Amino acid sequence: MTNFTIVYVYAKQIKSRIGMIFLNNVSKQFKLVLTLLVLSVIIVISTFANPQSLLAVSDNNGEGVTKKTLAPGSKYATDLYIIDSGKPGPVVMIVGGVHGSETAGYTAAAKVKNWKIDKGTLLVLPQANRRAIAEHVREISGEGNLNRLFPDSKGETPKHTLASAIWSAVKQYDVDWLMDMHEGIDYAKTSSSVGQSLIYYPNSSTKKIASKIVAGLNKDISRSTRKFCLIDLPVKGSLARAAGQYLGVHSFIFETCDNPSLSVRVKCQLQAAQTLLRNLDMI
Ligand SMILES: [Zn+2]
Repeated sequence: MTNFTIVYVYAKQIKSRIGMIFLNNVSKQFKLVLTLLVLSVIIVISTFANPQSLLAVSDNNGEGVTKKTLAPGSKYATDLYIIDSGKPGPVVMIVGGVHGSETAGYTAAAKVKNWKIDKGTLLVLPQANRRAIAEHVREISGEGNLNRLFPDSKGETPKHTLASAIWSAVKQYDVDWLMDMHEGIDYAKTSSSVGQSLIYYPNSSTKKIASKIVAGLNKDISRSTRKFCLIDLPVKGSLARAAGQYLGVHSFIFETCDNPSLSVRVKCQLQAAQTLLRNLDMI
């Protein structure tokens, strides 16, 4: 039962009881005012008793969702979910599992593929590197780091089957915004990790939403060394860099630190994706 169904049932019961006891002799206008007052109080109580109702993104029931296999028939085959609202709007692509050991990214992306949107199109590739995820390794031995196999010069095509299939999908669907979900090994930036960060391809509107994502997350983080930071250029050969530089996509990599529990990290990933979609009026 939804909050509003509960509110309606309560309101009906309360209205009839109040009506029997107190309101037999008062005016219709007073009855109306009192009923509205009772309804408002119940709505406020019901909303604050269940704050998740303000945060949750509703799940779709499979309507308007198409599943397409990238690199079909190959050992890299992986599913792309296309959630089409049926209304014009931005095309957003959310990618998880480019690195198979970065659990929060592909766990969060698997949830995002069930989200319902109000406009535009949401593409979700939850398990970009399915084989690396199955082995729980960053990359498959001998195949290189998938996030360095995307074009690093204009007109170049990826030299790897999987990178090529993902790149083709970004072009085919004319993606406007791309979020690539990753994880780092520490909170703060070190020589071997970018830390908790959002790394965007330089663009003023990308920066505007990226700043809101980081600010929203940092509000709940008290220790300054654990806050997310904004970095403005993804590494060469990465999906976000190539999409931003060569296809004009508003793109970024989002990195959680893998120290906290998986649920905390997944929550950060989902909050970042929600902030992106909310700022594009898609949810
Ligand atoms: Zn990564």
